[in-house]
Amino acid sequence: MELYSADWVHTARTFQSAHGLLVDRGRVVAVGPLPELRAQAPGAREVHFAGQALAPGGVSAHSHCFQVLLRGAGDHPRSFKDWVERHLYPLVLSLDEAALEAAALLCFSQMALAGVTAVGEFHYVHTRQGDFTPDDARLAELVIGAARRVGLRVGFLRTLYDRASREGQKRFAEPWPDAIARTRALAARYADDPCVRVLPAPHSLHGASREAIEAAAALAEELDVPWHIHLAEQQDDVSYAKEHTGFTPLFALERWGVLGPRTTLVHGIWLTEPERKLLAERGGALVTNPTTNMLLGDGICPLRELLEAGVPVAVGTDMNATCNAWLEARTAEMLQRVDRLEMGQLSAADGGQPQPGRVFDLATKNGARVLGLEAGSLEPGRWADFVTVDLDDPSLLPASLDGGDALVSAFTGSMVAESAVRNVYVGGRPIVQAGQVLGIDRAELAARVRGARG
Ligand SMILES: [Zn+2]
Repeated sequence: MELYSADWVHTARTFQSAHGLLVDRGRVVAVGPLPELRAQAPGAREVHFAGQALAPGGVSAHSHCFQVLLRGAGDHPRSFKDWVERHLYPLVLSLDEAALEAAALLCFSQMALAGVTAVGEFHYVHTRQGDFTPDDARLAELVIGAARRVGLRVGFLRTLYDRASREGQKRFAEPWPDAIARTRALAARYADDPCVRVLPAPHSLHGASREAIEAAAALAEELDVPWHIHLAEQQDDVSYAKEHTGFTPLFALERWGVLGPRTTLVHGIWLTEPERKLLAERGGALVTNPTTNMLLGDGICPLRELLEAGVPVAVGTDMNATCNAWLEARTAEMLQRVDRLEMGQLSAADGGQPQPGRVFDLATKNGARVLGLEAGSLEPGRWADFVTVDLDDPSLLPASLDGGDALVSAFTGSMVAESAVRNVYVGGRPIVQAGQVLGIDRAELAARVRGARG
């Protein structure tokens, strides 16, 4: 057993001093005052992070890792359509295995350096570059392997995409029965790996047929995991749904009988008020991706309304222009202020937790929830996935002098800079030490990315 402690430890929604974390075989056994933990496990090996605070790791619940290769080139197109046609699809078509692996290692390394310990990787590049032969699990295993080499826990959202009509979509396309069989086989392959969960993910209403979506929801039931779908990201998605299903996006899912507690919507910017209410009633959840939504001009996710309706909301880094879960949570909340020209938007959302704690949850426990991971908070039974930050880092001063709630605010308001992250642990094992990723060195990473550019 190990007993981890730091100057401040995040427990019960605030940072407490003289507290620690007792860990056995990668899982949290107890969190509490150090004397109590020492009495509980006298022989435990003690690790103290002096001058640091210890918090649950961040979760990016929605990521397309290969899109890091669009950085610089794909940031300023004229429109979403222009971005898709002139940047996204050409990248997809040209992506070989080495480039995909380089992108994954780059993206996941940057997440680890930002204190992210788990990622929901929404993977839809399934067929081989050039000849579009089904590669079965080859590319999926490449991406999962990259996450594991860096050390992240991964909720692998294996996409079903059976409505491809364009050249640029050919690498996503497969008949839905094949996609289901491959997702089931992939889940079986990783069934014994505690760091990997495979989840079905019908791409969207325009990318997946009704049959694919129904089969994915049934498979999620069989695998006992959540399932994810892009929904109502842009206004066009609403008109598409009305035209092709006769309903607004969420009512289409409801009508088809697939909406339930396993359903996780990605984006949901243009959900109507009755849809938000319905999502809450069915126990569904949502992942918001504010930086990507801003970059693509999608709109502002109605975070406050969703939380008020009782929908659990997590955050994702999506196209990974940034890889920092706390930055996404902070941005999601700040956009509410911009939208309503008023501060304090989340304070009254459920009459309970103060605003900084709510924002903190978006970046941590809510992310773990939507990926079906036993992580996201430092509680007995959960995996010991945590991050330590340097209290003397300029990004944390002076809040770090006070600790407690001020430190929660620092994580979610002024923001923890990557420079503050010192150590990152996943399942009780270090993946970042002294600000360096252990699984891959910088020179190799840079060389791989250089190679990916050809
Ligand atoms: Zn996405």
